[in-house]
Amino acid sequence: LWSYIEEQFHKTMTPMSYTTWIEQATPRSLENNVFEVQVNDSLHKEYWDKNLVTKVIEFAYAYNGIEINPHISIRSDQDQDPVVSASEAAVRAEIPRGDDRLNSRYTFENFIIGKGNQMAHAAALAVSEDPGTLYNPLFLYGGVGLGKTHLMQAIGHQMLATNPDILIKYVTSEDFTNDFINSIRNNDGERFRNEYRNVDLLMVDDVQFFDAKVGTQEEFFHTFNALFDKKKQIVLTSDRLPNEIPTLEERLSSRFKWGLSVDINPPDLETRIAILRSKADNENISAPDDALTYIAGQVDSNVRELEGALLRVKAFAALKHAAITSSLAADALKSLTVAKKDNGLSIRQIQDSVARYYQVEVSDLLGRKRVKQIVMPRQIAMYLAREMTDSSLPKIGKEFGGKDHTTVIHAYEKIETMLKTDKDLKNEVADIRNQLKNRG
Ligand code: ADP
Ligand code: MG
Repeated sequence: LWSYIEEQFHKTMTPMSYTTWIEQATPRSLENNVFEVQVNDSLHKEYWDKNLVTKVIEFAYAYNGIEINPHISIRSDQDQDPVVSASEAAVRAEIPRGDDRLNSRYTFENFIIGKGNQMAHAAALAVSEDPGTLYNPLFLYGGVGLGKTHLMQAIGHQMLATNPDILIKYVTSEDFTNDFINSIRNNDGERFRNEYRNVDLLMVDDVQFFDAKVGTQEEFFHTFNALFDKKKQIVLTSDRLPNEIPTLEERLSSRFKWGLSVDINPPDLETRIAILRSKADNENISAPDDALTYIAGQVDSNVRELEGALLRVKAFAALKHAAITSSLAADALKSLTVAKKDNGLSIRQIQDSVARYYQVEVSDLLGRKRVKQIVMPRQIAMYLAREMTDSSLPKIGKEFGGKDHTTVIHAYEKIETMLKTDKDLKNEVADIRNQLKNRG
């Protein structure tokens, strides 16, 4: 968890602030969701309480859906012990993800139905009641943060509730790839096949990130066939339709279309308010309707960001010892979107730099060609536009040849995810950033 938090701060802070506030802080423990962080002195504590605590809450929530309660204390002399305590080591360690454990919040009960998702919801519910025969595979697709993972896991919860003895497996396409590679390395393909081919429900999340190399897709092809032949349910998610995933082998994309493909669209205002209301009730956050309406009006494309905004408001209210009102919500959301990025950089300059770096034309970045050599630079340019300027998503979309803001969100999240594992990409993006910072 801590390394994820560090990384998030690293991306959003100046190096100077990062060294001052983050590097000098020590995560101590995480118990009962209370997250102990130690800092040097009262000045650091004050800064953390004021500026960083809400972000830590948000990051942790984005990381694995847990809501933590950061507690900042000042280090005393005896805490200076250089030996890393066991609890600290645990906080620093990555919490393993992608195991069979489902997020307990991702149930049908907690899923709010609206125009954008009612089809997907109905299909998921039908599959959970009659797995393996009705729609196999079920392919859910749509933008980031719209509830694909939630709905997929709800199927798992529901099937387990009906029959606790069934075997289910939830993985991301990256988990599948890693498992497969490890099985080759450790020479236990047998175990791997047992693990994947004997389940009653296999859920593979974000198949747009399926690796094009190393025979992973071939292995998945066989896994798919084995399960399908036994009438075991397969559920897949992606940010787009199978045939629109450039790295996906044709034999897979054609199989992915055998069952039912349903898309999820962004929620309308009413649905967003209903989601906030349900979330607030579940978490015992007391907030009047007009405050929720205000928040729902501010965040309009992504349920994850919507939830993040509510958590910010909640943390802000706690800090101020005040009740949540619409004007407090306005303050909370404003204070966290303060323009730290006022560096005079234009989107056009970013496009120029990226185009030069990858030796493509700026017009290609603005266009719609879907070849890999152009798609990546285009997404990187969108990513940097969001990271390095204050432009809104719709504005960025517009400056990229009139694209929809959801396209920008896709690009941003895709690059953000890739940066976590792809060292080359990380270096390239850092190079371009530096060029932009040292321009002129
Ligand atoms: P995706 O997988 O599409 O990126 P997620 O399933 O991770 O999105 O959803 C992001 C967050 O939004 C999760 O916390 C999820 O519980 C919540 N969420 C999304 N859609 C709904 C909904 N219709 N009702 C309640 N919560 C939702
Ligand atoms: Mg997801």
